[in-house]
Amino acid sequence: MIVEVIVDITNSQVDKIFEYICENNIKVGQRVLVPFANRLLSGFVINIKEKSDYDLSKLKYVEKVFDEQPALNTECLKLYEDIVKRYHTTRANALRLFLPSEMRAGKVKELIKTFLYPSNIILDEAISKVSQRAKSQIEVLEYIYQNGRSELATTCECYSRQAVTALIDKGLILAKKEQVFRNPLNKIETINNEVVLTDQQKKCLNYVKNDSHSTQLLYGVTGSGKTEIYLRLIDDSLKSGKTAIFLVPEISLTPQTVKRLRSRFNENCAILHSGLSSGERFDEWWRLRNGDAKIVIGARSAIFAPIENLGIIIIDEEHDSNYVSESGCRYNTIEVAKMRAKANNSKVVLGSATPSLESYVSAQNGEYGYFELAERINRKELPEVCFADMSKEVKRGNNGIFSSILKEEIKTCLDSKQQAIIFINRRGFSQNVICKDCGYVAKCQNCDVSLNYHSEDDCLKCHYCGMKYHSLSACPECGGIHLSYGGAGIQRVEKELNKLFPSATVLRLDADTTSTKDAHYKILKQFSEHKADILLGTQMVAKGHDFPLVSLVGIVEADIGLYNSDYRSAEKTFQLITQVSGRCGRADITGKVILQTYSPSNPTLKMAAEYDYKNFIKQQIFLRQMTFYPPFATIVRVMCVGENEDKTINVFKKLFSALETVYNENKTDFIFFNKMKSPIKYMQRKFRYQILMRITNQELLDIIYSTALSINAFGTHIYVEENPTDLR
Ligand code: ADP
Ligand code: ZN
Repeated sequence: MIVEVIVDITNSQVDKIFEYICENNIKVGQRVLVPFANRLLSGFVINIKEKSDYDLSKLKYVEKVFDEQPALNTECLKLYEDIVKRYHTTRANALRLFLPSEMRAGKVKELIKTFLYPSNIILDEAISKVSQRAKSQIEVLEYIYQNGRSELATTCECYSRQAVTALIDKGLILAKKEQVFRNPLNKIETINNEVVLTDQQKKCLNYVKNDSHSTQLLYGVTGSGKTEIYLRLIDDSLKSGKTAIFLVPEISLTPQTVKRLRSRFNENCAILHSGLSSGERFDEWWRLRNGDAKIVIGARSAIFAPIENLGIIIIDEEHDSNYVSESGCRYNTIEVAKMRAKANNSKVVLGSATPSLESYVSAQNGEYGYFELAERINRKELPEVCFADMSKEVKRGNNGIFSSILKEEIKTCLDSKQQAIIFINRRGFSQNVICKDCGYVAKCQNCDVSLNYHSEDDCLKCHYCGMKYHSLSACPECGGIHLSYGGAGIQRVEKELNKLFPSATVLRLDADTTSTKDAHYKILKQFSEHKADILLGTQMVAKGHDFPLVSLVGIVEADIGLYNSDYRSAEKTFQLITQVSGRCGRADITGKVILQTYSPSNPTLKMAAEYDYKNFIKQQIFLRQMTFYPPFATIVRVMCVGENEDKTINVFKKLFSALETVYNENKTDFIFFNKMKSPIKYMQRKFRYQILMRITNQELLDIIYSTALSINAFGTHIYVEENPTDLR
């Protein structure tokens, strides 16, 4: 038999289909080990045929076939081709998306345990065969005959290893090796959360079920009960014999949602995310592939879960930028979800309290169905947002981080034994360190950016490459000792909180406190059990949390990000403020939000404070339409990145002239076309040059990709980004 194999190597030079001979029984989708350029590499069988067009004597043999059940299913073998076409990636790169990384590396970690069973004689007879003095052997026998099956290791721990071994030797109990599935869900508690749907929820559910659009957008204010609707939709899908994918932006930040799903669907759900041990992820993946689990909950990569017969795909907080993958194969999760839904004839449901402008426009165009949940559960009011004008505070002589009103509100909140969330979107202690005498700024050696000071480990850190440097006691340029630590970060806010409210317990949730496994989970659990009074965090605190005791949200610096040169900066600021405000006043107590800003008359902040999503989005749509920004044009950035500056520039020149030809031949489709250094011209020891364009004709995308990727890059890296979320 001849098999067509894609070798798991991402080099674009070998992005071809190779043929091998296989004598064993083999199935399409199976993983194999094949000889390739004097090495053995793993690969995927994508086709099987009788004859080859090549000379048979030149073909090599498949060395080994992995897994009984083919890892790739039929849908995936079709979808990967669409991914290759759409995102211009290599076949191997596209296929990698469908497998957990632990499988690719070939380190298949099956967990084998030994279990004990009673032999086929009755208990009395078994007991009669051991000495009456061997008390522990009799205990073990009784235990195993009663329980039917028990794990060897635990039995030995509870009784005695010698007794167990003696009984196995006598043939009175049987030992069998079995594969077990590690189930991370076992660690997750369940809650009883059966609720009666509100009228609004019922209407929404009816709408989603009966509407004929294949994608539907649910705009539901924070706390309007969207999660309950998702659960019912999943339930319906299961009842009609189908499966479901449920995506959240960052699963470690949504333990409550996982808990709700787990409580409702038990073993039927599998969870996929990077916080699991590789063994757990491997097992969960196979439970889905075998059909033992019918629902997957996960972050964006779970869109590639090996699930068949999909009934529904739910994407919660659909506006979140985590749904766009900007490394490896650059893909947009919503777009892939639509591809999968089409292949399965199923639906995609997008939900958010602040839908992305792109999704809202699609709903307006009639491309998506659209439903609004305008009220919170039990008609609870959204919390009132009060501004604290920080320039007035400064005039009054308050140079601290907190306005007087926020300090008062925190005090009131603590006095009444309620909880507060304080939000500041900046890591570290300060954004930069500057010498007041000579103007020296501490910068990273690997990147063209200033270093942040981290008080916790008393060092300077680069947030782009992670490099750490000694902190400064004097300026390295002029020796001056007057250093200023500008741009207050979360560690400084924490210090201030501890000083102002010494008896309050503060938990900090940011990238630095959550670098270890389970750290997110522990912090959120402590806060939900009211073991702390204040949760201080970066954007991590804005995600979907539902803490009933939170009555206050403090936004320390609402202006961060507002004046970025990014076309999405207003939209992102609006989303963050709405989301973080939505964390309070969710249950019986009324919530309040204090928003600190230097620009209280800024229209984005004002509309966010009034939860006026619709007017905000209408105004933004108008702006983008007038200025030709996405979705009314596509921003394309072609990057050329390399370690050697001269080589990079040489490649970049070729790249530019090739793309310039495309531009010259299609000028009317371009709003903008130019070359430049990237805003961060040096990052992770690499020089960065870019060609930036805005096009109004989507069909040009394919030409741009193929032109750019056909340039011989000689060690530099060329890649294409569409509407990048980050234009650094
Ligand atoms: P959203 O996802 O829209 O922010 P949630 O689904 O988290 O909102 O719901 C907010 C709160 O209301 C949760 O605590 C949830 O358990 C509760 N809830 C949802 N639906 C109902 C209902 N029909 N009756 C009572 N409580 C509900
Ligand atoms: Zn750096």
